[in-house]
Amino acid sequence: MGIERLLLNILFIILPIFLFQIFFAEKLFKGPKVWYTVVVGLFASATVILCMTFPFTFLPGYIFDMRSIPLIIATLYCGYKAGISTLAVLILYRYYVGGEGFYTTFYTYPIITAVALICVPRFRRAEKEKRETIALWLAILSSSLVLLMTLLLLPEENKIELKFVQFAFEYSLIQLGGIWIAVYLIENMRKNIMMQQEIQRAEKLYAMGELAASVAHEIRNPLTVVRGFLQLFGRQQIPVEKQGDYIDIMLKELNRAEEIISDYLTFARPQIESRERIEVGEQIRQIAGVMTSYALLKNVDIYTETEDHLFLELNRSKFSQCMINLMKNGVEAMPEGGTLTVRAFRQDKDVVIEIIDTGKGMSQEEIKRLGNPFYSTKEKGTGLGLMVCYRIIEAWEGKVEVRSEKEKGTHFSIILPALSDEL
Ligand code: ADP
Ligand code: MG
Repeated sequence: MGIERLLLNILFIILPIFLFQIFFAEKLFKGPKVWYTVVVGLFASATVILCMTFPFTFLPGYIFDMRSIPLIIATLYCGYKAGISTLAVLILYRYYVGGEGFYTTFYTYPIITAVALICVPRFRRAEKEKRETIALWLAILSSSLVLLMTLLLLPEENKIELKFVQFAFEYSLIQLGGIWIAVYLIENMRKNIMMQQEIQRAEKLYAMGELAASVAHEIRNPLTVVRGFLQLFGRQQIPVEKQGDYIDIMLKELNRAEEIISDYLTFARPQIESRERIEVGEQIRQIAGVMTSYALLKNVDIYTETEDHLFLELNRSKFSQCMINLMKNGVEAMPEGGTLTVRAFRQDKDVVIEIIDTGKGMSQEEIKRLGNPFYSTKEKGTGLGLMVCYRIIEAWEGKVEVRSEKEKGTHFSIILPALSDEL
């Protein structure tokens, strides 16, 4: 029961980290903190129980396990609620198992948790390497405490045994190794998630920059009109009955400029990670409004055909980001101009949004490569737009389907689960 058990314990530590990353991390980082704490607490407690149920030994009489690792990790990464509940589970389970060593646990692990809690603020601020160091120091502290306690409780004749030294050495080494593996894995996974978010932001900034030029262009028109009228007012006497009409025209033009700016800003605003109920038709018309100036510059007409009362529950600004990416791609696929049609309708329990262009289209091979990072056939392309879209839509449990024919055009369909309680 030596090495196999040790490997089993390492598996107990690593497996929850992977499961957490695959199934929970992304959703939980965005959601309310409570769920994060609950899930981390549950994972850590389960790990503690598994580790304690399958302890290991290399020397007869000296049994040990890795229970301190989930405790330290949960405390450091999630704070006092997760830490203390894991501690409670640890102590209760140790009590339930019974036997002598209970008091070792009862005195040692609260101290370890307390010290870990003291380190939390510093840990949060630290860089990756510094975090590893802090976790390693905690592991050193925890193994020293456990060893000290074991030493105090050992029967008199065993104390001077060489065996104890060997045990102490192995125990500390395994604790340090275990904690290092755990922190290293977690940190790398966190880095990945953050990079994904960074890419999303960067791609949005890029699209915003491209649209900004056309938005500015579009605003200039109303301003020119208004300036013209103002010059008229300044230079010559305008008949009173005309004045009202002119002022109306100026106000209309200014309102239009204001609308363009506010549409653009809804897209540009920093993202808040929340879902809300949105009316698809209204949202699409607004986005089409932002895109119109851009499309006009490239000789593309945009048509929208949307059913009323289609509701989705999702993040408004991410939805705009996806739609703008797809519509921009459509416009860019028609260098000679054409039409871009955006449709939205209901199909059983889903809402389908179609973006159809009459552009250059793609071959089957090209379609297969869509969504891969940095795949772009454009001189100034980022090759990230579609990847970001796909990821966002997958996170909403939706699908993207693509049909395309060379020189005929492309047809993107986004299929998203409709909000069931729609009115
Ligand atoms: P980018 O637009 O920066 O090139 P995307 O991820 O948005 O990156 O698109 C990747 C590639 O997919 C594009 O370079 C283009 O070759 C192809 N593509 C995407 N949408 C269309 C479309 N509607 N018609 C033709 N090709 C498209
Ligand atoms: Mg693009």
